[in-house]
Amino acid sequence: MGFNVAIDGPAGAGKSTIAKLVAKEKGYIYVDTGAMYRAIALYLIRKGVGTEDNEGFEKYCSEANVSIEYDNGTQIVLLNGENVNGLIRTQEVGNMASASSTNGKVRAQLLELQRKLARENDVVMDGRDIGTNILPNAECKIYLTASSRVRAERRYLEFKEKGTDCDLDTIEKEIIERDERDMNREIAPLKQAEDAVFLDTSDMTIEEVKDKIIEIIDNCQSK
Ligand code: C5P
Repeated sequence: MGFNVAIDGPAGAGKSTIAKLVAKEKGYIYVDTGAMYRAIALYLIRKGVGTEDNEGFEKYCSEANVSIEYDNGTQIVLLNGENVNGLIRTQEVGNMASASSTNGKVRAQLLELQRKLARENDVVMDGRDIGTNILPNAECKIYLTASSRVRAERRYLEFKEKGTDCDLDTIEKEIIERDERDMNREIAPLKQAEDAVFLDTSDMTIEEVKDKIIEIIDNCQSK
C-alpha cells in the first residue's frame, strides 16, 4: 500500500497545479483523475453523444478504455491506446466530463484504475470524490477551494496563455454550473470529507499553497 494524499475541490481551485508540485517535491506520482473523465468525455463527443444523453453515456462509455502512463513524471492519458493529453483541456470536453461523470457506469469504470494506482504507488491524487469515495482511508486528505471569481480568473489566464479566445464571465458561469452538478449529483458528489483539511486559496500564491500542503502532509506522516 502506498502513502496516499487525496486532494478534492471544485473546478479551478488549483488542485492540479499544486498536486503536481507537491508530488514532485515528495517523490510521489501525481494522479489527475479529472483527465480520466475527460478522456471518456472525448470519446463520447466523438461518438456524437450530447451532454444530456444519459443513454448515450451508458451505451458508449465501456468502449472507451482509459489507461495512464508516465513520461518523466508527466501523466499521459491513453484513450484506446491514443495519447489524448493535448485534446482534453477544452471547455467542451470539461463540460461533457462534468455531465457524463454523473453516470454510475462511467464512474465505476474508472474506480478500480484509480484504486490500483494508489495501492501500488505513493500518490497525490486529485479529483472530486477521492477522499470521500475512492480512497476513504487515505493517510492525508485536503479540500482545496477558492471563490468562483478567482477560480474563473485562473482558468481565463490558462486559456489566454494557450491563445484560446475566451470571456471571463462565461467561464465563471460555466464553473458555477459545473460545481452545482458536481456537488449535487447522486453518485459520489463533491463534498469535503470529514477528516479533510480545508484550505481556501483565494488570497494565496501557488508557492504558499504548496508549502502549506507539504506542511499538512508532513503532519499526517508524523502521526
Ligand atoms: O478536474 P477536471 O476539471 O479536469 O474534471 C473534469 C470533470 O470530471 C469535473 O467537472 C467532474 O465532473 C469530473 N470529475 C469527477 N470526479 C473526479 C474527477 C473529475 O466527477 N474524481
